[in-house]
Amino acid sequence: MSELSKLAAEISVCQKCILCKSRTNAVPGEGPENAQIMFIGEGPGFHEDKQGRPFVGAAGQFLEELLASIGLKRDQVFIANVVKCRPPGNRDPMPDEIEACRPYLDRQIEIINPKVIVTLGRYSMARWFPNAKISAIHGQPRKFEGRLVVPMFHPAAALHQPSLRKDVEADFRKLPEILKQFEQVEDSEPPPPEAEQLSLF
Ligand code: URA
Ligand code: SF4
Repeated sequence: MSELSKLAAEISVCQKCILCKSRTNAVPGEGPENAQIMFIGEGPGFHEDKQGRPFVGAAGQFLEELLASIGLKRDQVFIANVVKCRPPGNRDPMPDEIEACRPYLDRQIEIINPKVIVTLGRYSMARWFPNAKISAIHGQPRKFEGRLVVPMFHPAAALHQPSLRKDVEADFRKLPEILKQFEQVEDSEPPPPEAEQLSLF
């Protein structure tokens, strides 16, 4: 069993927050263990809760269109959420729920080790950019612990708002270039510390 499947099995029976009481299925997330790009949404909605899969409703269809616009299929990327169980009535996840669920997302990021993380909406953005406004920073990558994090609008919000939709489409178009930049950054890393120390003598 892969590390990710073991984690998914753990999530599916988790009772660490109140959201376990109302869920039909937990939605651990899905995608290849070696995905280069990871998308992080907010939490499962109605259809996701029924199927136990992330982004399968209207927002998911839009996400797939956005992926297709840059030549990607959903099974080439990892898709996860900040909370793995549906908040009742699609309410916003509460701080204590996000906190209880955080170790699962931490482990997913550690196992997959993606080059680029795309946060979809403000709840996943807040993990890396706690006080930022999404309207000010969307589409701008920042480096965290060796990977690039790119905040974007949530597809559910962008779907029906023409101006946000244009923004999220434009931000997606930048992704291939961002991934390429990452590879260049990686290639031009400074020599390891031993070499630097030697040169002091
Ligand atoms: N919205 C999300 O944030 N996540 C999903 O999985 C589906 C819709
Ligand atoms: Fe556990 Fe996360 Fe589901 Fe809460 S939302 S029960 S912490 S898996």
